[in-house]
Amino acid sequence: MARVYTNTACRLYNTDYCRMLHMVNCDSCTVASRNKASMDDLIRDLDALRALLPEDGIEELFLTNRCVLCKKQEPNPRTCYALLDLGNHEPKREGTNFLGIKTKLRTGSLLPVQLASCDDCKKRFMKLEYVVPFWVAGAGVISIVLLSYRPIREFFMAYGAEVPFAIFAVVMLAALCIGMFLKRSRLKRYAYLTHLDVMEIEKLKKLQELGWFELNEKKRYTKLIFNKKRLRQGVFTGSLKNSASERQNV
Ligand SMILES: [Zn+2]
Repeated sequence: MARVYTNTACRLYNTDYCRMLHMVNCDSCTVASRNKASMDDLIRDLDALRALLPEDGIEELFLTNRCVLCKKQEPNPRTCYALLDLGNHEPKREGTNFLGIKTKLRTGSLLPVQLASCDDCKKRFMKLEYVVPFWVAGAGVISIVLLSYRPIREFFMAYGAEVPFAIFAVVMLAALCIGMFLKRSRLKRYAYLTHLDVMEIEKLKKLQELGWFELNEKKRYTKLIFNKKRLRQGVFTGSLKNSASERQNV
């Protein structure tokens, strides 16, 4: 359904700025009520952000029916979206640190990036994320349950009062090792199928050249948040093209 914008009194009405903000409609717009100075700031920020993005924006990453994380020739159909935040040092900004002293901020701009994803790719990221906690928590619960069973505990305690604790520690360590081993082998296997480091996707490579970086520190794969639906509104969450089927200014 097309989004309808009705607030002709708004300074941003039917402008590129309005398209960049991609609000659901004028009633749910979070910026229209700003005063002049704060609107000036917003426009300056949006200009700066636009200058830091490729000419054709980033919409090809999410306005597509195909998974952009798949590495194969014929990517799977899109079933969900992956979200990550990128930061840029530009424009240079000053803020105050915890001592109240003025300091240069590390991040001048923030950009939420959505990636069309399929269930297979989503599962791979999930399996990488949870394999170690799964093994450690599972081993922890099972060994506590078993050791709290009196005959088992007493059997081990016959060898020494500290033996049950030692066994618990060994089991936990073994579970950690198994989890880490599985994670490593999955990283290798999945790397053939999915862009585990999303910055290797062409469009994101371009963003990297323009100074964008991942805000979350990455080990060997990108931390992503998966959602069934796209973000409804917000900067660069929609198309910059003013197609009548998407947007109407009345
Ligand atoms: Zn995929």
